[in-house]
Order: sequence, then C-alpha cells, then structure tokens
Amino acid sequence: MRRRRFLQLGSLAALGNWPAFADAQGKARGRVVIAGGGFAGSSCALYLKRAAPKLNVVLVDPEAPYTSCPLSSGVLAGLRDLASLQISREGLQRAGVRYLPARVAAVDARHHRVRLDNGATLPYDRLVVAPGIRMRWGTPEGYDEAAAQRMPHAWIAGAQTNQLARQLQAMDAGGVVAISVPTAPYRCPPGPYERASLIAHFLKAHKPRGKVLIFDANNHFPKQDRFNEAWQQFYPGLIEWIPVTEGGAVQRVEPERMLLHTSGGAHAVAVANVIPPQAPGMLALDAGLCSGHGWCPVKPETFESTLVPDVHVIGDACIAGPMPKAASAAHSQGLRCALALAAILDAQAAPDSSLNSVCYNLLAPGYAISMHGRFGITDGAIAEIKDESGEASDAPQNPAREAQAAEDWYRSIVADSFG
Ligand SMILES: Cc1cc2nc3c(=O)[nH]c(=O)nc-3n(C[C@H](O)[C@H](O)[C@H](O)COP(=O)(O)OP(=O)(O)OC[C@H]3O[C@@H](n4cnc5c(N)ncnc54)[C@H](O)[C@@H]3O)c2cc1C
Repeated sequence: MRRRRFLQLGSLAALGNWPAFADAQGKARGRVVIAGGGFAGSSCALYLKRAAPKLNVVLVDPEAPYTSCPLSSGVLAGLRDLASLQISREGLQRAGVRYLPARVAAVDARHHRVRLDNGATLPYDRLVVAPGIRMRWGTPEGYDEAAAQRMPHAWIAGAQTNQLARQLQAMDAGGVVAISVPTAPYRCPPGPYERASLIAHFLKAHKPRGKVLIFDANNHFPKQDRFNEAWQQFYPGLIEWIPVTEGGAVQRVEPERMLLHTSGGAHAVAVANVIPPQAPGMLALDAGLCSGHGWCPVKPETFESTLVPDVHVIGDACIAGPMPKAASAAHSQGLRCALALAAILDAQAAPDSSLNSVCYNLLAPGYAISMHGRFGITDGAIAEIKDESGEASDAPQNPAREAQAAEDWYRSIVADSFG
C-alpha cells in the first residue's frame, strides 16, 4: 500500500486537485520561455502545456537527445550503454511544447526577453531557468577542463561517462580506482556511493585484484549503514571509505602523474573519478539569479527568483531547503512551478501542491535501496515532513523488490517528464 502510494508521488496523481485546477486554467494566455530541458525544465514545460493549453511554451536546450544521469553509473559497471539513457524531445513536441535546439546566451530581464546563441531573441511573460549544474573548476587545485579528460567527473552524463567507462576497462587488474567526493551540497547526494558500489561490482568480475578508494570531503553520507551492509555482503575488502577527518578531502590533483593529494599525502591511482564542487549552470550566474552562497534563492510557493522578478528557477540550480539535488526533486519542482505559472498568467493565486523526492540506489544487480522525502512549506521555507519521509517502498528489507521498483520509477519519471 505504502509502495503504491509512493510510486504515485511526483506524478499528477499526487496533486489531488489537478483536474479541477487544470480546467480552470484553460484561459491562461501568454508566453513562457524555459531555459534548460532536463528533468526540471521538461517537466515544467509538459505540465504547463497540459494545465494551460493556450499558453505559448518554448523550451530551449542545445542537447537533443537529453542524456539522463540517473542510472548512468550502470554504464561504468557494464550493465547498460549510454544510448539506453538518451531521451528524445519528440514527446514534448507532441504535447504542444515548441522545442528550440539552442542555448540561451543572455537574459534581458528588464525587457522580458532572452537572446539565444544563434542570434535569435525571444520575448517572454515569464522565464523559467533550469540549467542544472556547472563544475567549479580549480577545486581541487589543478582540476580544470583539461584535467577532467584524464580524471573524468562523469557528473553530467555523456562523453565523460563513456570516458570513465573506457578507463576502467583499460586499467590493470590490480589497479586502484579513486572517487573524490566534494563537500555537500552537490548533485545526487548518494550518487558517489552508488557509483563506488557499481565500480566494485565491475572490478570483482573483471579486475579481481583492484580496489575502490572513496576520498570524501564529508564525514558521513546518506544511508551509510545500508551501504556498509551491502559492501560487507558483496564487496568485502574492495571498497575503502576515507572521511574528511581521516584526510579524505582531495586538495590537489596532478593528472599527468595520476596523483591525488590529501592531508594524508600523495596517492597514486590507476583511475581517478574526481567529482568537483558544483554551482548552478552559468546562465543562472550571468542572469544575476545566484546568491552569495552560489545557488539560486526562490520563493517556495512559485519558485520565482527572490532576486529577479518574473524569472523562476527550478531543479539543481535552486535552493529548495532540504530537498536533495535529484531528478525526482527537479521533476516535483517543475510541476509546482507549472501550476503556479498557469495560475499567475490567469490572474489567480498559485495553488498548493506537494513536493517530493525519491532516490533509488543500485548497489549490485538486483539489489537496491531507496529513500524518499515529502516536503511542505513552514514559516515561508521548504521543510521536510518527517513522518512522511523514509524508505520508499513497503519492502525496505527486500532489496530485490527495490531494484525492480527502481526500474519502474525510472520508466515512469522519464514518461512523466519528457512526454
Ligand atoms: C551519476 C548520477 C546519478 C544520479 N542518479 C539519480 C537518481 O537515481 N535519482 C535521482 O532522482 N537523481 C539522480 N541524479 C541527479 C539528477 O541527475 C539531477 O538532479 C537532475 O538531472 C537535475 O535536473 P535539472 O533539470 O535541474 O538539470 P539537468 O538534468 O542537468 O538539465 C539541465 C539542462 O539545461 C541545459 N542547459 C544548461 N545551460 C543552458 C542554457 N544556457 N540554455 C539552454 N539550456 C541550457 C542542459 O543542456 C541540460 O539539458 C543523478 C546524478 C548523477 C550525476
């Protein structure tokens, strides 16, 4: 029962008042431009068009097809190929969204228009900015775009993912694979540990004397007990986690020599997956949407920027209280933002709707764990509803069923985000 309830979260079924609301919004007119068509921007475009069919909804993103980060660590373990994670823009187009394969180069908020990298200018009534993340190059010292060719981050799925997979395949049977984890917050909090698990799975099968070292700039990580339990069961002695208090933070890299420097000394490794600290996509910074902390502050009811009027920020780029930077959260924010925009452009108050997140982590083929969060607004800020958060299904002790639920979740969120 709980599992069924949960699988509905993040879909329209979770928005109990949606059908009545959608009918009432049929009158909304105007133009919404969405910059960035990942899980956040695409969900927003799709549901905006469903809520208010007369709205002119334009989605701008240079990436067609889009490549999903969720499940992409499976590529490293040889469990799938990258092509299986590519999602076309046709579903959105069929839903009536106008898709433009271009990059938004600049926002002119004063005149309500954006300029594209192909020279075109688009006017808007409301702008949604959903550019995901960029890497903060230079941290660790020496980690720049050239270094990322030798030491891939693979934290934006695509060429970097294949690059890391090739390095793993080519390394010696006794090689050490390092994963460097930045200080939180970063995209997909449990992601590095899922990745360590799947790389260990690959090593066990193909490089039996290999080892995974996790250099961590943090002192704990989500679902740590569940990860440790699975690592003991599947990969005894294969994964070593080094927290910041034991010298885990990588301070400097030397890609030519494949060296990682921590306070504990220099570590020579065969493969280095360096995940650097992150910040919102450059467009958000250029448009003046970022606060001193780096991320983009928003009003929780509508996801409108607190810094630039009539511009909304959703997905990994925004500050959404305790919501993780996850595809599920991005999708949920896209829905809330769509509802709010349909109402605002019909001169109505934004309705209330739930915010959710879920993270499934595959630790070995057929063995997954999960965690979900449900969020409301308390004292003007997004807050977790503790007694409605926790394990995502009614069978948390049944990792095989969680693995099946993870597959189901992925299929459903892709359909519910990209049409
Ligand atoms: C290895 C890994 C595993 C993950 N696993 C999971 C998981 O299992 N579950 C989960 O919920 N989350 C997972 N995540 C996190 C998830 O991928 C992100 O949270 C999610 O993609 C965020 O969505 P977004 O729309 O904000 O950003 P993105 O999905 O990154 O989309 C941003 C889009 O904006 C476009 N863009 C950027 N700048 C511009 C511009 N100037 N103009 C136009 N377009 C622009 C980009 O091309 C991109 O398509 C994982 C992440 C990683 C790295």
